[in-house]
Amino acid sequence: MKLCRFNDNRVGLVEGDRVRDVTQALDVLPAVRYPLPGYDPLIANLEAVCKRVAALAPQSESLSLSDVKLLSPVANPGKVVAAPVNYQKHLDEVRIDPALHQGNAAHTAAINQIGLFLKATSSVVGPGEGVALRMLDRRNDHEVELAFVIGKTASQVKAAEAMDYVAAYCIGLDITIRGGEDRSFRKSPDSYCVLGPWLVTRDDIPNPGALDLSISVNGQMRQSSNTRYMILDVPQLIEFASSFYTLRPGDIVITGTPEGVSPIVPGDHIAARIEKIGMMELDVRAY
Ligand code: MN
Repeated sequence: MKLCRFNDNRVGLVEGDRVRDVTQALDVLPAVRYPLPGYDPLIANLEAVCKRVAALAPQSESLSLSDVKLLSPVANPGKVVAAPVNYQKHLDEVRIDPALHQGNAAHTAAINQIGLFLKATSSVVGPGEGVALRMLDRRNDHEVELAFVIGKTASQVKAAEAMDYVAAYCIGLDITIRGGEDRSFRKSPDSYCVLGPWLVTRDDIPNPGALDLSISVNGQMRQSSNTRYMILDVPQLIEFASSFYTLRPGDIVITGTPEGVSPIVPGDHIAARIEKIGMMELDVRAY
């Protein structure tokens, strides 16, 4: 099932190039009181929501996808965990290019040595909101990544059991200002984490380790690879992340980018694709 969030927090069921407004399915969510839960209630109850969505869909209004503004499909991620340099060919290109590594040893080490990093949740937007670039005197790059959403609380989970903790997948863009500062600083301005265009539930992607992914800018292909080239695959990333952080429903993990990162500037139009998810288009502007 493909679920999106659009316009003024509507919930949509995506069918081809149409979207059904199934916002009423939110009625299945339990009422919350302060203090609010530290997780995303829709993702925590995704199975019940999907059941209600399926029941509501036939009599729900159908809109053209091109007429709606797509928001991040997860409204309240508790954290965005990110894998640095998780494709060998991307690590290779960073190691030989000073514009990418900036002379910083932490930029050229393998993932097992440098661990994971976090992006601020305030950086999360959907494709309909676009990317607003800061520090235009510096290089800003696109990074296309497979993103997955944690479905239930995970702590100290072994890779062999890890797939039970995945709720859904989407495309993630890890927009990056090049420079010497910490990753969590350069990759966390508002709009530097684009998630979308919708969630694809786990049952529709039996193997996340064999998906073509690509990104083009103004019609020109920049990155094109397959998730089989990830150094740590989805189950291994869950084992690694959950050994340090308790992962909660709605937490996002972005899995690293393949080779081909390159600059984007205001006015650019981005189209990112991942097999079995679809295509996500967005515009780049100055902040
Ligand atoms: Mn990245």
